[in-house]
Amino acid sequence: MARNSAVETRKTILIVDDSEFVRSYHSYILEQAHFRVITAVDGSDGLEQLYTNACDMVLTDINMCNMDGYEFIRRVRAEGKYNSLPIIIVSTESEARDKMKGFEAGANLYLVKPSSPGTMVENIRLLLRGR
Ligand SMILES: [Mg+2]
Repeated sequence: MARNSAVETRKTILIVDDSEFVRSYHSYILEQAHFRVITAVDGSDGLEQLYTNACDMVLTDINMCNMDGYEFIRRVRAEGKYNSLPIIIVSTESEARDKMKGFEAGANLYLVKPSSPGTMVENIRLLLRGR
């Protein structure tokens, strides 16, 4: 199949968030932008979804029970095959130290909730460019 803008392979994005509202809202935004979406309710569910699906990117919350976003990202990055998987944190935490912690864990980008649909999709496309 030819790869051009008209016949583009849909990218799969894993959304990890403990809020059902956020999962549905972000899923809606990404599906409108023609992405395929998989969701997970916390970090450990996120790892399970990642291991069983081919994901092109991860969008993760920070504050979650069982396994929070920082630990989830650290575990993803601990596995060589996910070294270059783009990870975006989307969190209500907006302090510089939260962002630092996110980048230290291995996130590529940190967006503060609520992030406008346009900003979110724009950043996702930027990080997926050439992939
Ligand atoms: Mg949360």
